[in-house]
Amino acid sequence: MRNILVIEDSPLVLKILEHLFRQEPTLQPVFCASLAEAEVMLETSAGLFFAAIVDLHLPDAPNGESVDLVMRYRLPCIVLSGSYNEQRRDELLMKGVVDYVLKESQHSYEYAFRLLHRLEHNAKIKILIAEDSEATRHYIRHVLTPHRYQILEARDGEETLRLLAEQPDIDLLVLDHAMPGISGFELVKLLRQKMKRHELIIIGLSADAKGSLSALFIKHGADDFLRKPFCPEELNCRVMSTLERRDLLRALKQAAQFDALTGLNNRRAFYEQGLQLLQQARRDGHELSVAMLDLDHFKQINDGFGHASGDSALVVFARALAGAFPNALLGRLGGEEFALVSAQQADDLAQALDRLRRQCAGLHYAAGAPPLSFSAGLYRGEPDDLESLLHEADMRLYRAKQQGRARTVLAL
Ligand code: GH3
Ligand code: MG
Ligand code: MG
Ligand code: MG
Repeated sequence: MRNILVIEDSPLVLKILEHLFRQEPTLQPVFCASLAEAEVMLETSAGLFFAAIVDLHLPDAPNGESVDLVMRYRLPCIVLSGSYNEQRRDELLMKGVVDYVLKESQHSYEYAFRLLHRLEHNAKIKILIAEDSEATRHYIRHVLTPHRYQILEARDGEETLRLLAEQPDIDLLVLDHAMPGISGFELVKLLRQKMKRHELIIIGLSADAKGSLSALFIKHGADDFLRKPFCPEELNCRVMSTLERRDLLRALKQAAQFDALTGLNNRRAFYEQGLQLLQQARRDGHELSVAMLDLDHFKQINDGFGHASGDSALVVFARALAGAFPNALLGRLGGEEFALVSAQQADDLAQALDRLRRQCAGLHYAAGAPPLSFSAGLYRGEPDDLESLLHEADMRLYRAKQQGRARTVLAL
C-alpha cells in the first residue's frame, strides 16, 4: 500500500480523484485542502508518503507554494492546474516536478494515475545516457531524475558498450548520434544484432535537422527518436511510452510461452525447447529421457470437489514437479497431462518420479479431497525425433494406467 498526499481544495476535483482512488487498491490517498493543512501533515508524517498530487492554486497558496513545500520534502510531485501556461510549465518541470497535469478531462486525471504506477516501477528501471556533451548529459539526467529511475552515463560508444556488457539489466539507452568514435547509428546496428527490443529499449538523439536520420534509426531497430533541443516533457513521455510498450511485449511473450494456471511451459513452448534439446543431444551424441505424466482419476476431483479444487490440484502438482526436476524441461501439454525431457538416466528419473509420487500423496489442495496420484511412462532413446520419443513414453503411460495407476512404466 502506498500513501499519496493530495493537496487540493476544489470539491469537484476531489470527487473525481476520490472516484479514481477507489479503483486503485494499492494507492491510499490522504487529502489536505490547504497549504497550512499540508504543512502540518508533512511536518509530522512526511516519511509515510510515496508521492504527492498537488493543486497549483490554493486559497492560502496562490503561486504554487504547495509545490515548493512538497519539493522541500523530496516527494515526487505531480502538479494539477486549471490553466495552461507555457512559461509556468517549463519552470515547474525544471524545478523537478514529475509532471504537470491539466484539470481538463477524465483522461488527464487517468494520466496522473499512470504516472503514479510508473513511479512505483521506475526505481527498478536502469537508464543509460550515452551522450558526449556533458551539458546535455546533465540536462537529461536532471529531466529524468524526478521519475526515480536509476541513471548511468557514458561519454562515447566504447563506454556505452562496456557498461551494457557489465550491466545486462540496463533497460533503456538514450543514444546520441554524433559522438566521437562509433556513431549512435552504428551502435544501434551493432546492439540490435545481440539485443532484442524486449531486452533493451533504444531512444536515438540528434541535433541533425533532417528527418531522414530519425527514420534510419527506427528502421534499424531504435524504438524512438528525439531531435535536440527537446523539452523535458517530450523526453519523459517517450521514455514512459517505450517502457509501457516494452512491458506489454514482455507480458505478451509471457502469455504465449507459459500456461496461465500452472506457470509451466505450455505445449508449444515445450515442443520448441524440446527440439533444441534434441538437436543439442544429437550433436553431443547423447540419448535423451522423456516422460509423460498424467494425474489419476482427476475427473473425480472435479466432479466431487469442484473445478476450483481441480485447478488447485494442478497448481500444487506443477509446483512439486518443478521442485523435483529443477534441471529438466517441463511442460503442461494439456488438461492434467505433463511431460518432461531430461538428459538424466532413466533409472535415476524413475527414482525421482517415485519420490515425487510419495510427496504428492501428502500434498494438500482441497479440504477432504483424496491424495494426489499420478501415472508415468518413461522412455530413453536416440534423439531422432521428439514426436516419436513422446509417443514411446505415452504408450508406457497407457500401460501404467492399465496396470492400476500410481506407477511408472519403463519397459513395454
Ligand atoms: P485417468 O486416471 O484415467 O487419467 O482418469 P482422469 O479422470 O484423470 O482422466 P479423464 O481424461 O477422464 O479426465 C480428465 C479431466 O480433466 C477432464 C477435464 O474436464 C479435466 N480438466 C482438463 N483441464 C482442466 C483444468 O484446467 N482444470 C480442471 N479443474 N480440470 C481440467
Ligand atoms: Mg484550487
Ligand atoms: Mg554528440
Ligand atoms: Mg488423468
